[in-house]
Amino acid sequence: MFPEEYGGAGLDYISYCIIIEELARIDPSIGLIVAAHTSLCSNHIYLAGTEEQKRHYLPKLGTAEWIGCWSLTEPEAGSDAGGTRSQAVRDGDGWVLNGSKTFCTNAHYAQVCVAMLVTDRAASQHGISAFVLDTGVAGFRLGRKEDKLGMRASATGEVIFGDLRVPASQMLGKPGEGFVDSLRILDGGRILDRRALGRNRARCLRPGTQVFQAAPAVRTIHLRVPGDSTQARQHGDRYRGCPAPHLPRRGHAHPQGRREQGIGDAKLFASEMAVRACDEAVQIHGGYGFIKDYGVEKFYRDVKLCTIGEGTSEIQRLVIARQLLKA
Ligand SMILES: Cc1cc2nc3c(=O)[nH]c(=O)nc-3n(C[C@H](O)[C@H](O)[C@H](O)COP(=O)(O)OP(=O)(O)OC[C@H]3O[C@@H](n4cnc5c(N)ncnc54)[C@H](O)[C@@H]3O)c2cc1C
Repeated sequence: MFPEEYGGAGLDYISYCIIIEELARIDPSIGLIVAAHTSLCSNHIYLAGTEEQKRHYLPKLGTAEWIGCWSLTEPEAGSDAGGTRSQAVRDGDGWVLNGSKTFCTNAHYAQVCVAMLVTDRAASQHGISAFVLDTGVAGFRLGRKEDKLGMRASATGEVIFGDLRVPASQMLGKPGEGFVDSLRILDGGRILDRRALGRNRARCLRPGTQVFQAAPAVRTIHLRVPGDSTQARQHGDRYRGCPAPHLPRRGHAHPQGRREQGIGDAKLFASEMAVRACDEAVQIHGGYGFIKDYGVEKFYRDVKLCTIGEGTSEIQRLVIARQLLKA
């Protein structure tokens, strides 16, 4: 989705959403890997980077010669990302970084890591700055790789900074703007759901609809309930009830900068609905839905991340409530 001058394909954000949808339709983990690489890591560099940073990083990220990860979450700072503790201290012309990040998608394969660290503790959220880091340098270490419920083809892990020295040119964006920039970046990720919803398709709804299309298993259901119209109708009702026709349309998604209304409710709606769809799909498949051979249980496990990652459902509700109270 980046301009050709930075090695991008020059596609718009809707095209990018469609690509993620299609990847997630087959395997949500692959959608997650590409999304963390593109709309989190690369997009942060694109939105906040200097011309030199963009020209250095984006072309190689664009071809996936380098893989990117994006690290905001810490053991003590998840939903409350403003509580970030990892710190960068000024040292001559550069910075010395110490601390650790958790739950970082792609960390174990990444050559580039965008990370948020405190540069001015007194300034609270406005004292958090972003850095773009080469993962091969001394002081950048990887910790535990998580063993997960779902999204198992995507690596999630710990990133550790131990006296990591970087030149000042590795700061991404202005000092103290890393937190606000992160919120804009996260909106970009959530838009993956918002944009797609307008077309009744979504990254996280994809797993939901895909499970109903798991061909062999669905055929089995048809065979098992051929003459029982009541049961068949109930199954139909379940399917129809999941991707509900009334979709949030408030606000306009805008991945290239401004924060927009309507993203929180779209993210909440799409992710909760996808979880419900996958739950119903397992139920419709009966015992077969519980068995690994049929491919339904995998979507059931994968989709749960949608209500947790890039802002939990509870945080989306808070965001929506704040917007309503402000309005
Ligand atoms: C597979 C996976 C991949 C991830 N990838 C990345 C990544 O690439 N980069 C990255 O930075 N992070 C990543 N994350 C982290 C993810 O964004 C966080 O897990 C998420 O933001 C929630 O934070 P937490 O896990 O610390 O939970 P907590 O914030 O501790 O929340 C625990 C519970 O409390 C609720 N809660 C918290 N605060 C409130 C509140 N104020 N009001 C009401 N309820 C509240 C939450 O909704 C949740 O139900 C990933 C996580 C997973 C599981």
